[in-house]
Amino acid sequence: MRDSRDNESVVIIGAGIIGIACAHYLAQAGFKVTVIDRGTIAGACSYGNCGYICPSHILPLTEPGAIRNVLLSLFNPNAAFRVKLRWNAALWTWIWQFAKRCNHRQMIAAGSHLKVILDSSMTEYQKLISEQVLDCEWQDSGLLYVLQTTSGMRNFTRTQQLLTEHFGVTARRLEGEELPGFDRAIKPGLAGGFYYEGDAYVRPDRLSASWVRYLESIGVTFAENCAMESIEKTAMRVSSLRTSSGTMHADHFVIAAGAWSTKLAGYFGCNIPIEPGKGYSVTMQRPQICPRYPMLLPEHHVGVTPFVDGYRLGSMMEFVGFNASIPEKRIQQLRDAAKPYLADPLGGGNQNSWFGWRPMTWDSLPIIGRVPRLENTYLATGHNMLGMSLATASGKLVAEILQGMTPHIDARPFSPARF
Ligand SMILES: Cc1cc2nc3c(=O)[nH]c(=O)nc-3n(C[C@H](O)[C@H](O)[C@H](O)COP(=O)(O)OP(=O)(O)OC[C@H]3O[C@@H](n4cnc5c(N)ncnc54)[C@H](O)[C@@H]3O)c2cc1C
Repeated sequence: MRDSRDNESVVIIGAGIIGIACAHYLAQAGFKVTVIDRGTIAGACSYGNCGYICPSHILPLTEPGAIRNVLLSLFNPNAAFRVKLRWNAALWTWIWQFAKRCNHRQMIAAGSHLKVILDSSMTEYQKLISEQVLDCEWQDSGLLYVLQTTSGMRNFTRTQQLLTEHFGVTARRLEGEELPGFDRAIKPGLAGGFYYEGDAYVRPDRLSASWVRYLESIGVTFAENCAMESIEKTAMRVSSLRTSSGTMHADHFVIAAGAWSTKLAGYFGCNIPIEPGKGYSVTMQRPQICPRYPMLLPEHHVGVTPFVDGYRLGSMMEFVGFNASIPEKRIQQLRDAAKPYLADPLGGGNQNSWFGWRPMTWDSLPIIGRVPRLENTYLATGHNMLGMSLATASGKLVAEILQGMTPHIDARPFSPARF
């Protein structure tokens, strides 16, 4: 630890996976760290997600044709990717900015930035796992994409070619007849698949719980049910936060409030254009014939995650604002989606339905760096669909930037100043 930072304090707003990762690297650097959350620790989007740590997931949402799907979804309430038709200036600005980036050139540019931070994150996770800091059912078993139809296989082959050509990411191609031998949970008769052996997965709630335990053991303080309500600032510095539990002073502040970060932007005088992208999951007991590998089913946009003592189906991307309902038909869609692929698609026991609001940026890149015009406040948010995968490198970047060090990867593509 660096002695020079021992007397300096940091308050992090938001105890999702990103706030926790920032706390880790800042505590390692010797700062006195407090993490506050308006709800429970890691109880929001970082709780019930699919848990993939997937450096292969390079291609951003802003792909050619994506905007057509957005527009079609306005009239299809069952679409996996859905925008609810409503008048909201921030949403339409977001969609307009998103649409402008749905082209080959910008997709490849965003992908190249994501690759760097995804790879760095995986390296950091591997270090933490080998140091036995995290007890999270880490499994580096790879990630299997399964395609039902020949046209799905044809389309995904093009995606894979792109990944190899531009990013050097390779995958093992599996023909349909090989799939049941590869994972006995897969039904015969499917078109094929692609296996990314460099990916891993975790049980998200165990990851955050064990990480928080470790951080508390090295002196980090976590405060639940403590919402940031406003701030006190001088010209260029935030001096304190007003929270639901009283005033908090610190030398530095980090905003890691996920999808809610936009609501805080006004206090810090910056622009944080994030829309909540709502997704669902259902968690149950392991089925009798449980998949050996985590799987993505791109034609149905569903992820399947087999945990040590559970089994999860997760998916959907809805732009419906902060609507906290869990429609049963969405959960049923998840269950139905697994049926064409898996011999035993559903487990028993309690069916725990969940939703989370992903912090979606219009350029598919996270927002990491110092808040423009404030000397002591930093953003770590906007991690889209990849917050679990990007947490470690994001935390490391925040710690480096806050200390004025040269970041270990180029942080400019993620700068808050781009908005
Ligand atoms: C269905 C689904 C599947 C997913 N699967 C994967 C996957 O397999 N791999 C992957 O990498 N990513 C996945 N994701 C994305 C990932 O879950 C998110 O990117 C990630 O959880 C975002 O983390 P976060 O810490 O930024 O936000 P959150 O976890 O939402 O945390 C933000 C926290 O800030 C707090 N907060 C907000 N406002 C305030 C305030 N005023 N004061 C104090 N606290 C505040 C909130 O209470 C919350 O706890 C998935 C998401 C969904 C929905």
